[in-house]
Amino acid sequence: SRPAGPLPIQRLHESLINRIAAGEIIHRPASALKELLENSLDAKATSIRVTVKEGGMKLLQIQDNGCGIRKSDLPILAERFTTSKLKSFSDLSRLTTYGFRGEALASMSHVAHMSVVTKTKSDSCAWKAYYSEGVLIAPKAGQTPDPKPCAGNDGTTITIEDMFYNTPTRLSALRGSSEEYARILDVMTKYAVHNPKVSFLCKKAGSPSPELSTSPSSDISHAIRLLYGHAIGKELLNVKVSSSRAGSPSNQPDSPVDGLDDPERWSAEAYCTGANYQAKKTVFLLFINHRLVESSSIKRAIESVYSGVLPKGASPFVYLSIKIDPRSVDVNVHPTKREVIFLNEEVITERISDAIQQKLVGQSHSRVFEYQT
Ligand code: ADP
Ligand code: MG
Repeated sequence: SRPAGPLPIQRLHESLINRIAAGEIIHRPASALKELLENSLDAKATSIRVTVKEGGMKLLQIQDNGCGIRKSDLPILAERFTTSKLKSFSDLSRLTTYGFRGEALASMSHVAHMSVVTKTKSDSCAWKAYYSEGVLIAPKAGQTPDPKPCAGNDGTTITIEDMFYNTPTRLSALRGSSEEYARILDVMTKYAVHNPKVSFLCKKAGSPSPELSTSPSSDISHAIRLLYGHAIGKELLNVKVSSSRAGSPSNQPDSPVDGLDDPERWSAEAYCTGANYQAKKTVFLLFINHRLVESSSIKRAIESVYSGVLPKGASPFVYLSIKIDPRSVDVNVHPTKREVIFLNEEVITERISDAIQQKLVGQSHSRVFEYQT
């Protein structure tokens, strides 16, 4: 039994610290996939192919055609806080990449078996490396841990196997493989909508046909139609709104904040269903500076707009992309970067809600008008 009085404070073992830290970032296969997708997008990939076994718990493999990783960087690739994306603290306020902390691959190497095959354009062959607990390891007894030359295309393939093999409580907290696979598809579907110029493919290992497959020619509304179906696709309204400041042109979603020295400048674009579409639950895709995030306050504000338009119990589909000056956003508030904090959130939310409201009202007017003529 526990003695009275305090127990001594002891330093945790390094490997335990790393495993605990990893658990904050990698919750389940879908959170690992989100990090891997973001790495591929950061590497400017135009094709991302994912293969999954047992909901990603047995195998999660992602192949991209991005810039690849230099062979000389492979020894520190899976170390914590090693990154090619951030050099100084002030870079955090100019971030144009998803990654910045160098924790994702490190985390995965602490809770799963991880291997990497990568080739840059200037490499004459690809290199394969195996990792465990942050460092290169030999794949088999008697071999060295050094990366081995192999055949491969330009780009990077990362293979994560036996996720949480060494953290049994985390493993037992996961749902069945079909639910975990559904979450993987959900994350991929959302990134595929937001990145219509990139082709995404997701399939189960050994299965002949993918569950998700996009081709890189469409725009966001096409991608929504393709991935969420025609019933939503044909009811989509496009809403654009931005900070309108003297001297700065508004409604420029594709040249939003760069170049103009105003940290309070922002723009937003939504594709959302009109009064004719009714779902049981709101489907809400929110991107802030291209990052897939959650915001219960923005969601609530938009739902309350729809509650004035849709019958009770009916919900919309809403895709919303907000672009804000990176200086006004703090992305470093949540271990999985699932939430962000940004300047003027209430004002921006209100302006977006109002714009959606106007579009919905305008839509119902035009219906009345059509009816009268
Ligand atoms: P971060 O993305 O925060 O930098 P990660 O642990 O996710 O940290 O990745 C570490 C580094 O590995 C990245 O900075 C990048 O240089 C490299 N990297 C990871 N994935 C890829 C990829 N798919 N293609 C090219 N480089 C990659
Ligand atoms: Mg990353």
